[in-house]
Amino acid sequence: MNKYIFVSGGVCSSLGKGVAASSIGALLEGRGLNVRIIKCDPYINVDAGTMSPYQHGEVYVTDDGAETDLDLGNYARFTRGVLSKANSITTGQVYDAVIRKEREGRFLGRCVQVIPHITDEIKSRITAAAKEDPDTDVVIVEIGGTVGDIESIPFLEAARQMIHECGRSNALSVHLTLIPEVAGGELKTKPTQHSVKAMQEMGIQPDILICRAPAMLDEATRRKIAQFCNVETEAVFTSYNIETIIYEVPLVFSKQGLDLVILKKMGVESRHADLDAWHSMMDRFRAQTGTVRIGIAGKYMELHDAYKSVYEALSHAGLACGVKVELTKIDTTPLEDGSRVKDILGGGSGGPHGILVPGGFGQRGINGMVNTARWARENKVPYFGICLGMQVMVIDWARHVLGWEDADSTEFNQATRHPVVSLLEEQEDVVNYGGTMRLGKSESAAEPGTRILAAYGVPRIFERHRHRYEFSNVYRGEMSGAGLKLAAFTPDGALVECVEWPDHPWGVGVQFHPEFKSRPTEAHPLFRDFVAAAKERALAET
Ligand code: GLN
Repeated sequence: MNKYIFVSGGVCSSLGKGVAASSIGALLEGRGLNVRIIKCDPYINVDAGTMSPYQHGEVYVTDDGAETDLDLGNYARFTRGVLSKANSITTGQVYDAVIRKEREGRFLGRCVQVIPHITDEIKSRITAAAKEDPDTDVVIVEIGGTVGDIESIPFLEAARQMIHECGRSNALSVHLTLIPEVAGGELKTKPTQHSVKAMQEMGIQPDILICRAPAMLDEATRRKIAQFCNVETEAVFTSYNIETIIYEVPLVFSKQGLDLVILKKMGVESRHADLDAWHSMMDRFRAQTGTVRIGIAGKYMELHDAYKSVYEALSHAGLACGVKVELTKIDTTPLEDGSRVKDILGGGSGGPHGILVPGGFGQRGINGMVNTARWARENKVPYFGICLGMQVMVIDWARHVLGWEDADSTEFNQATRHPVVSLLEEQEDVVNYGGTMRLGKSESAAEPGTRILAAYGVPRIFERHRHRYEFSNVYRGEMSGAGLKLAAFTPDGALVECVEWPDHPWGVGVQFHPEFKSRPTEAHPLFRDFVAAAKERALAET
């Protein structure tokens, strides 16, 4: 039988529930258990695919092509558990399924209600995810929102029922709260007491409390919280503000014995904790020397979460290369007409050592990105293009090397005479893809003598896609004739997956999204090699 851990949050949002759930996952994996983490999102959207990155941050893509909440990215960075469509449950999906069943007459004339029908649907989705991989030992269910929100009530009620049905040793409630500091430096436990009361009103007695606090809680405060909240003192943990990186959180929890308490409560025999990979990652963090500046020229620069996986992957690469990565966000709007590119990017000693253009949709800022790519190419600045960032490389090559001034992607200019990036439908030799988004895992084959092959070390590459437009096959001959390297293809050769600049320290563009598979304990090879090239440039500067 699977064990379940329900992670809920109280007092306010943004306390780091996703990181807490992921860290618990990492600790249990360290104890030899197979973990799967599920996110319950109370919004009515069926998935995150239709949401603006400004609304909800990055859309994280799974192998099976689900467009999910960015918390799944945290799960992927902290644990090795399976991530698929089933890991993301939204109110939209749940109601959609129940209403469909109702229309099909599957409720046999009964009145369809939130309890039991909506809660049953939530429970069956959680158990289906648990069963999808027979090796799963523990399923961690993160419940989005804050206790007391109207939207999360059905999810908390489903959790209550599962805890009741499975028994307390098979299903735990971990509740994350905030211990604020008021003027005078005093820490206040009252909001936590109220938050636990709200859980108890829902019928759930938390087994474990994780308290976000400015510093480690002392024994007396923990005892007080324990007494007022009906939990054991040894089950009150502190998630204090750390000055290093979020990847230290599993170690912070492990030092306090969180994994031991969970194992004890679940009646799982304690096994030796293997957290070596996390310790050596932190050693590498402490040993980092020097800084490389990476300029990011993207579309959604104002919101950090919009490119969360990209930023995290760069920090992992910094850990692998022994150097701190400083992100500079480049606003491409003033780069549109090309006249100020040198001023803005050249910047003498303050300029970026590497430039990354990440994914994006729509016309805004594109010409600025093309000019940014051109500048990186001509000035031999390491450049990494991801999805849109690769398409931008292709457009620059067509415009500024081949001299086709109007070259463009048909996403931005349908009337161009040189549609070097276009919809698959328009490509004569590809018939089956249609105009829909290419989503999820697929294989690419790297060509000999390329940077991409050097990075991965093997020619067979499996990465995830999320895009509609492709390098147009019509222009393969002319583009590569002028020197652009076509460095990877789909295994059938039908689509170009990677382009590289010749005679350049490191200029690589990939049509897929490698950022989704980078881990702090194991940097992604492309990010690692990009940051290594940027580090070379930084060293040459000094
Ligand atoms: N807008 C481009 C496309 O649809 C790129 C998408 C992306 O960067 N994810 O092909």
